[in-house]
Amino acid sequence: MDELIREILARPKAGGEVTVRGWLRTARHAKKVSFLEVFDGSCMAGIQAVAGPECARFEEEVRGLGTGCAVEAVGELVDSPGQGQRFEVHAREVKLVGGVDDDYPLQKKRHSFEFLRTIAHLRPRTNTLGAVLRVRDAASRAIDDFFHERGFVQLHSPVITLSDAEGAGDMFRVSTLDPSAPPRDDQGAVDYKQDFFEAPSYLTVSGQLEAEIGALALSRVYTFGPTFRAENSNTSRHLAEFWMVEPEVAFCEIEGLADLAEDFLKSVFRQVGEKCEDDLAFFDARIDDSVLSTLAHVIEEPFERITYTEAVEILEASGRKFEFPVSWGADLQSEHERFLTEEHFGKPLIVTGYPKGIKAFYMYCNDDQQTVAAMDVLVPRIGEIIGGSQREHRLDVLKARIAAQGLPEEEYWWYLDLRRFGSVPHAGFGLGFERLVQFMTGMANIRDVIPFPRVPGNASF
Ligand code: ATP
Ligand code: MN
Repeated sequence: MDELIREILARPKAGGEVTVRGWLRTARHAKKVSFLEVFDGSCMAGIQAVAGPECARFEEEVRGLGTGCAVEAVGELVDSPGQGQRFEVHAREVKLVGGVDDDYPLQKKRHSFEFLRTIAHLRPRTNTLGAVLRVRDAASRAIDDFFHERGFVQLHSPVITLSDAEGAGDMFRVSTLDPSAPPRDDQGAVDYKQDFFEAPSYLTVSGQLEAEIGALALSRVYTFGPTFRAENSNTSRHLAEFWMVEPEVAFCEIEGLADLAEDFLKSVFRQVGEKCEDDLAFFDARIDDSVLSTLAHVIEEPFERITYTEAVEILEASGRKFEFPVSWGADLQSEHERFLTEEHFGKPLIVTGYPKGIKAFYMYCNDDQQTVAAMDVLVPRIGEIIGGSQREHRLDVLKARIAAQGLPEEEYWWYLDLRRFGSVPHAGFGLGFERLVQFMTGMANIRDVIPFPRVPGNASF
């Protein structure tokens, strides 16, 4: 394989022949010379091929090249006299590999993100989406590196599950029954015993319960996979299909979990900052001018840590009129979270110790009997980016919580088994991967940080 543009640009010096393959960002045809800006997606920068009359097929082919054409340019790598580019290629040959029809939608002018979403098959060729996809890739690598450096084992949790164990959100049903004529039982209800899995089955909303199984065997595991929620949230921070990272750690309590979450975000930011310098500089210049300062801030500054009770006190003392009233016992709404992290503290914030009435049954009950060892990490612009907890590992307490929430104990038989056979304190969290990419890039809408967004009313391609 030939060098990618990223590799060519990283050469120590000019000289020698290179072959550049890619697509034309722009083509400018001056009197006796054509300037062709070629990109191949391997980095933010493209490379300019300069072709004059000495270039093969200059009049017949090169002069007709335009934005979007796929080309192969061969020539000498020389130092560029132009600003902002180290090298350019003095082309002796430029081959048209694939032409473009006149209605190519990505002409020079900038397009709205709304429009680009309608052409998901072409938008990765824009500067912005290209940069997003490289940052996603670097973040994904950084996550795997972070966990592997700390002895975590990646666990592949299932996409199809039978339980809505967590109650984390509305679920998508998985079924092979004929929707127009499903089999019925004696009461006339749909008979899922005749369905593929012989029980109602769904797409997963979280890999947490499986991760707990893993942690209680391998000590430290993480899952990183697609997650589905059928909630009708048409917001800039919700997708119906998103990727979630869920570490789960045995012999770990809530403070250890908060430390892990902070180390994790700092480490991922540091690695992506190093790998994607140009992409992040682009986001800072073109999308949100706080991207680079946020990056430095997340890496260097300790996160703030407060309890839910303190959060409520701060909100009540703020004198601010919120749409949703603040009172101890009610969940923090996105407006409250953003006030705390953006305005009050101006930095990432870890909130722990939520009222047990608003949290899931599996969260560890604190000694005060009022709160559970839950933890959310809130960041400016996004709000909640991580949600997690220490898990209830005491069998009697867990059973009481299941009963108090009116859940069917039989369905949790295996979850309860884990508390009967060598139970240990353990804790874990879930990070929404797209929210992380949003936070890093400054992109306003979560639909623009995943290549193929799935949202209510739209899963087109
Ligand atoms: P929110 O209150 O913001 O809807 P949640 O409390 O329902 O989130 P959790 O069940 O705690 O979310 O999931 C863990 C993480 O997954 C969240 O902190 C968030 O980063 C991410 N997440 C949750 N729902 C979505 C979604 N619909 N789209 C993208 N990311 C999501
Ligand atoms: Mn949450």
